[in-house]
Amino acid sequence: MARVAVVTGGASGIGEATALRLAARGDAVGVLDLDAEGAERVAAQIRAAGGRAVAARVDVADRASVDAALDVVRAEFGPVLIMVTSAGIAPFESFLDITLESWERVMRVNLTGTFHCLQAVIPGMLDAGWGRIVMISSSSAQQGAPRMGHYSASKGGVIALTRSLAKEYGRKGITVNNVPPSSIDTPMSRHSHEVGDLPDLELLAQRSPVGRMGTADDIAAAVEFLASEDAGYITGQTFGVNGGAVA
Ligand code: NAP
Repeated sequence: MARVAVVTGGASGIGEATALRLAARGDAVGVLDLDAEGAERVAAQIRAAGGRAVAARVDVADRASVDAALDVVRAEFGPVLIMVTSAGIAPFESFLDITLESWERVMRVNLTGTFHCLQAVIPGMLDAGWGRIVMISSSSAQQGAPRMGHYSASKGGVIALTRSLAKEYGRKGITVNNVPPSSIDTPMSRHSHEVGDLPDLELLAQRSPVGRMGTADDIAAAVEFLASEDAGYITGQTFGVNGGAVA
């Protein structure tokens, strides 16, 4: 059954692949991103393929901005019953070099941004008695990552939030899960490689148990399933999509 879905970070990488997949199966998609042009490009691509999409600029760290962007989606398509939070930032900094400003910025986008988005859509899901929430976390929260103390802590918060909301809303028809990616070839990881924060992507591929980097669509496929009717008995889970890196 087609629903209204919103994907934050929908202009790039994992969010973009997810928006395209949900639209291809028939959902109406709100493509939300800080990068307004990129969001419009993805929404236009969906519409050109015969799907339904609307783009809106959002800064997930700002609740007023989240509310305004969701209003655009609701005005076009109605209540949002699928929420995918993929917007995120991933700076690499030695722990002793992390300023309070940087720590708070990472928390505001990755964790508080997720909080804003979920708090804004859950009332509509409660009204409908149905909802699917999928947050993009990170394998760094499962196994740690040097020079990513703020980032991995923010993503650990996302995993803990998953568990609590799953228990709070399980009887209301809302499932809540997260997908922690590892080594996915996206603009984010390419940028980290270019500035020397990540090793050569070829090396990362060799280190992977499956011998390759993941693609954004590898993650989107899992998100699509978790956001489906069939996944109704799956909630509170951290659904690893990592080529066996975390096993
Ligand atoms: P990406 O290609 O950089 O996409 C992230 C998108 O989020 C970008 O379009 C970015 O816009 C947007 N964004 C950043 N801050 C935002 C804000 N405050 N409000 C709204 N949008 C914002 O990265 P990706 O690799 O697809 O990552 C998606 C998610 O997966 C992130 O949460 C990331 O932490 C997680 N993840 C990725 C990997 C990986 O290997 N790629 C691994 C583990 C976890 P701008 O470009 O304008 O900043």
